Amino acid sequence: MAAEAERPRILYGDAGPEPPYPLRMEGTVISGFGRGSKELGIPTANLPVDEAAAPWIATAKSGVYFGYASLALPDTHPDHAQHHRRHRGNPRAPASAPPAPLPPSSNDTAAESPSSEPEPPSRWQIYPMVMSIGYNPFYKNSVRSAEVHVLHKFAADFYDAPMRLLILGFVREERDYPSLDALVVDINVDCEVARQSLARPAWTPRQGVVDGPGGEFDGSWLVREE
Ligand code: ADP
Ligand code: MG
Repeated sequence: MAAEAERPRILYGDAGPEPPYPLRMEGTVISGFGRGSKELGIPTANLPVDEAAAPWIATAKSGVYFGYASLALPDTHPDHAQHHRRHRGNPRAPASAPPAPLPPSSNDTAAESPSSEPEPPSRWQIYPMVMSIGYNPFYKNSVRSAEVHVLHKFAADFYDAPMRLLILGFVREERDYPSLDALVVDINVDCEVARQSLARPAWTPRQGVVDGPGGEFDGSWLVREE
C-alpha cells in the first residue's frame, strides 16, 4: 500500500461504476462493537449482514468500499429533510409546524421555489459513504460485519433507522497500523477518495443527494418507497 500522500484520490474511470458494482445491501442501524469509533471522530453505523438478501457479501473481499448510503430518518431527527423545509418555510409542511418568517429577499431563485419541486420529497436521503466489510469479532470472526461512515455531519445519532447501501467500488484492503493515529490518517484519505470519486457526474445520483447538485447516475433504488 502506498503512503497516504501517494494514494490516488480518484478511483475508477469517469464513465461510472463498473461491474460487479453497484452492489446493494440494506438493514436497520444497530449498535456496534463499542470500539469507540465516535471518539476517533469516525462514527460507523453498523448494519446486520443478511447473506440471504445480499449473497455477494459472502465472498466479498474484506476491506474498505465506497458508495452511497440512504437513510430514512424519523421526521423528529434534526437532519430530516422535512425538518429543514419546515424551518425554511415550505408551505407543504404540516400545518402543525408554521413556517418560520423569511426575511424579504430580492434574489430568491427558482431552485428554491416550491413550485419547481413537483414531486413529494422521498423519505430517503442520500449521502456519500465509506464502509468496511470485515469479520465480526463477536462471532469469532466467522460472520461478516459491515460498518458505514456516512460523509455528513449529523446533529444526532440515528440508531434503528432504515439504511440502504449502494456500493460502487473498492478502496483498499485492511491493513495493520503502527498506531491509532496512522489508522485515522488512512481513514481520512479513504473519505477524501470517496468524496472525489463520487463527485463526478456519472457517479452522482440524479436525485436525493443531500449536499451538492444531482448528477447522471441512476440511484433511484436508494430513494424508492416500498
Ligand atoms: P457503535 O459501536 O454503536 O457503532 P459508533 O461510535 O461507531 O458506535 O457510532 C455509530 C453511531 O453514530 C451510528 O449508529 C449513528 O447513530 C451515529 N452517527 C452519527 N454520525 C454518523 C456518521 N457520520 N456516520 C455513521 N454513523 C454516525
Ligand atoms: Mg460503529
